Amino acid sequence: MIPARADIVVVGGGSAGCTLAATLAGRPGRTVVLLESGPGYASTGTAPPELLDASRLPVGPESRWTAQYPVLLAGRPGTIARGRVLGGSGAVNGGYFVRGRPGDFDAWPPSWSFDHVLPYFRLIEHDSDFGDEWHGAAGPVPVSRTPWSRLHAVARAFHDAAVAAGHLPVEDLNAPGPVGVGRVPLNIANGVRMGPALSSLMPALASPNLTVCSGTRARRVVMSGAEAVGVEVDGGDGVAFIEAGSVVLCAGAVESPRLLLLSGIGPADELATLGVAPVVDLPGVGTGFTDHPEVAVPYRYRSDLPLGAAVLETVLHTDELELRPYTAPFADSVPGSGAAVPVLGVVLTRPRSRGRLIFDARDPYAAALLDYGYLDDPRDRAALRHGVASAVHLLAAMDEVVDPHSVPTGAADVDDEWLAAHLGTSQHLSGSCRMGSDDSAVVDDRCRVHGAERLFVADTSVFPQVPSRGPHATVVMLARRVADAL
Ligand SMILES: Cc1cc2nc3c(=O)[nH]c(=O)nc-3n(C[C@H](O)[C@H](O)[C@H](O)COP(=O)(O)OP(=O)(O)OC[C@H]3O[C@@H](n4cnc5c(N)ncnc54)[C@H](O)[C@@H]3O)c2cc1C
Repeated sequence: MIPARADIVVVGGGSAGCTLAATLAGRPGRTVVLLESGPGYASTGTAPPELLDASRLPVGPESRWTAQYPVLLAGRPGTIARGRVLGGSGAVNGGYFVRGRPGDFDAWPPSWSFDHVLPYFRLIEHDSDFGDEWHGAAGPVPVSRTPWSRLHAVARAFHDAAVAAGHLPVEDLNAPGPVGVGRVPLNIANGVRMGPALSSLMPALASPNLTVCSGTRARRVVMSGAEAVGVEVDGGDGVAFIEAGSVVLCAGAVESPRLLLLSGIGPADELATLGVAPVVDLPGVGTGFTDHPEVAVPYRYRSDLPLGAAVLETVLHTDELELRPYTAPFADSVPGSGAAVPVLGVVLTRPRSRGRLIFDARDPYAAALLDYGYLDDPRDRAALRHGVASAVHLLAAMDEVVDPHSVPTGAADVDDEWLAAHLGTSQHLSGSCRMGSDDSAVVDDRCRVHGAERLFVADTSVFPQVPSRGPHATVVMLARRVADAL
C-alpha cells in the first residue's frame, strides 16, 4: 500500500536511491518511502536471475528490466537502455566499480574535493584485496579484482601487451597515483552483480521506518510555492498523493530532470512549451550533460574462448583515454544485441562534447530524446583517432588470442566517417542537473535544488561532469554522503 505521508520520499530505487534509502532506514526516528517505477523483489533469493548473473547485461531490446531511450550519437540515431527495476542501472550494469580520479573532483564545489569524498568511498565498500588507507573494510559493497590466475585470456593478453608497449602496471586502480594498466575493481561476488539493491537495500528491508513501493511511478513533485510538499504518484490503481517532509529525486540523469520540469522547475521557455506552470526558472535542467563516447574496434579471436567471465577484467588508462578489452562479444554479454564480433573499446574519458535532453511537448511522459553532440569537437575526434591507433597496436601484439588478419588495417588514420560508424556510448550519463553556484547550476553543494525548499536531487544528474572513470562508485559515494546531510 502507498503510505499517505513520509518524512522523506526518495524517488527512484536505483544505485543512488537504494543507497540513500538504506542509509536513512538505519536511523530510526524518520519515516522513509522509496518509490521505484520498475518491478521490485524482496530478497536476493527472489531477485530475477538475469539481474544476478554478472557476466551478462540484461539490457538488450527485449529486456524487461530497462527503459529504452532514442539517442542521437554524432547525429546518428540509436537507442540506449537504463535500468528500470529495483536497483536501477546498477542492477543491470557491467560491475565495474572504479572511483573517479582525485583530479575529477577539481570540477566539483570545494566541499567535494577528493579529500572530502575519500572517507565516503571507504564507507561504501569492503575491498577484499586491499586494506590500506585508501580502502574500506566494513561497507556494504563487496569489491575485488579477478585473481591473476583466473583472468580471462583476452584480459591477460591485453594486460601483457600494454605492459610490453611501455604502459605502467597499476596494482590498485582505486588508489590515487599514476595511470596505467591494471585489473578492474568489480562489485561482483561469486559471479553475482552486487549493486546497491542487493548489497544495501535488501538488508535494510526489515527496518520499520522504510517502505519500498515498487511499480510506482512519481508523476511530479507537488510544490506549494517554492516548497516541495509531496509527490504525485501512479501505482497502477490511479493517481495518489504522498505528503513529504522532504523529497529527494534519485530517478537518474534522464528522469530526475524530467520530474523537475513537470514540477515547474527548469528553463522558463521549456516550461512554457510543455505547458507547465513555472515555479523556479533554472536554465540548466536537462542541458549540458556529459557521457563517455566509446569507439568499438572490431577483431576476431584465433579460436573460441570461454564465456562467463566478468565483462571487463583489465583496463588501460592514459591521460584522456580508457581502453577496454571486453571478455566476450556483445552478442553473448548483452543478450539480444546481435553484435557477434569481439571489440576493444576506446573511450574518451574527458570529452568536450555536451548533450541535451529533448522532451516531447505533446506527451511529456514519452521517452526523452538524448542528443549527445558526440564528435562535435575536433579535439575529441583527434583523441579518439589516437586511441584507435593504440588499440590496433595492442591488438596486433595480442597474438595468442587475436587473429592477426582481423585487426583493422589502416585504422591508425581512420576518418570521421569510420569513427561515427563505430561510435557508441559507455552509458555513463551525468550532469543533466549540475551541482554548483553558476547560472546553469541546478543544485547547491548539498544537492538542494536552487530556489526550492525541501527538494533535493542526488544521482549522476548532479555531477558537474562525467568522472573520467565509470560513474557507479562515485554515485554510490554521493548518495551515501547526501544521506548523512539530510
Ligand atoms: C548498461 C549499463 C552498463 C553500465 N556499466 C557500468 C559499469 O560497469 N561501471 C560503472 O561505473 N557504471 C556503469 N554504468 C553506469 C551506472 O550504472 C549508472 O551511472 C548508475 O547506476 C546510475 O545511478 P543513478 O542512481 O543515477 O540512476 P539509476 O541507477 O538509473 O536509477 C534510477 C532509478 O529511478 C527509477 N525511476 C526513474 N523515473 C522514476 C519515476 N518517475 N518514479 C519512480 N522511479 C523512477 C528508475 O526505474 C531507476 O530504477 C552502466 C550503465 C548502464 C545502463
